[in-house]
Amino acid sequence: MSRIAFVGLGNMGGGMAANQARAGRQVLAFDLSDAALARAADAGCTAAGSVAEAVSQADVVITMLPAGPHVRKVYEEQVLPNAKAGTIMVDCSTIDVETARAVAVQVKAAGYRFADAPVSGGTAAAEAGTLAFMVGCEEADFPIVEAILEPMSRATLRAGDHGAGQAAKICNNMVLGISMLAVCEAVALAEKLGLDPERFFEIASKSSGQCWSLTSYYPWPGPVPAAPSNRGYEGGFATAMMLKDLKLAQDAAAKAGAATPMGAQAEGLYALFDRLGAGGKDFSAILQLLRGRLDEIGLAGKA
Ligand code: NAD
Repeated sequence: MSRIAFVGLGNMGGGMAANQARAGRQVLAFDLSDAALARAADAGCTAAGSVAEAVSQADVVITMLPAGPHVRKVYEEQVLPNAKAGTIMVDCSTIDVETARAVAVQVKAAGYRFADAPVSGGTAAAEAGTLAFMVGCEEADFPIVEAILEPMSRATLRAGDHGAGQAAKICNNMVLGISMLAVCEAVALAEKLGLDPERFFEIASKSSGQCWSLTSYYPWPGPVPAAPSNRGYEGGFATAMMLKDLKLAQDAAAKAGAATPMGAQAEGLYALFDRLGAGGKDFSAILQLLRGRLDEIGLAGKA
């Protein structure tokens, strides 16, 4: 693989860029944050002074930025005016489908190839190189995109054409947000009915209530040792991130005319939880809101 310009070295991008360097690729890294840039340099990347400097020397551009407006601006103002002929550009940020498609149109019009490739898996998977990528790109470009993503990935799947990767990501995370709420409601009800939540886990994990939120991220501490519920809901997938993805799903549903009433409820509940100060807690902590026990996660008194 030739030279990679990696833009956005935050919680996710930092680990991802490091894995590209670890795989022996030359990574020209840039972030607005000096601290993030210094961490990338320690991990074997070459710190660039600007997006333009990184992009002008690269054959591949990977971006991992906070949201749609950042992606649009960085591509329009910095990536496209400075890229070399033949460059392929892969945006791994989670953004709205409309922006992903608009950026793809701009990139193609300028003569380059583009893929939207959002990820599933949090910072631990970014560090370990075990992310799942959902890719929207032209079919002919997929093998090269897959090869680019390989050092950061445990699975890379093509969802369809431009924008389909983002569509897959927000639909998947809408399932996740809704299913976590369903598990939390059931745990809170089990407790009220005098059923031990640990015993409920043993039964539901072997019954038709079984799902990822239950078996991998059980919100009650104990039955799933690796779940964030065992470490005060620290780490994991932040409530604020889940809220962002549910908002993207609701915006997309409104534009597409899709009925997503459960997604809307989930967005409302996570917005409330976020407003109560839980934005940084793992999203499974919403159990404590449903139990009326925000005090257990250090927020206010007993609700
Ligand atoms: P982050 O805020 O930690 O990192 C974003 C980085 O982009 C920051 O370091 C910021 O300085 C940099 N940046 C912003 N504008 C820039 C610009 N113009 N030029 C260069 N750098 C710029 O966010 P994150 O947690 O790394 O998430 C990145 C993306 O990945 C988001 O879209 C998020 O939704 C998605 N995502 C995050 C997770 C997670 O668990 N954190 C999981 C899956 C997907």
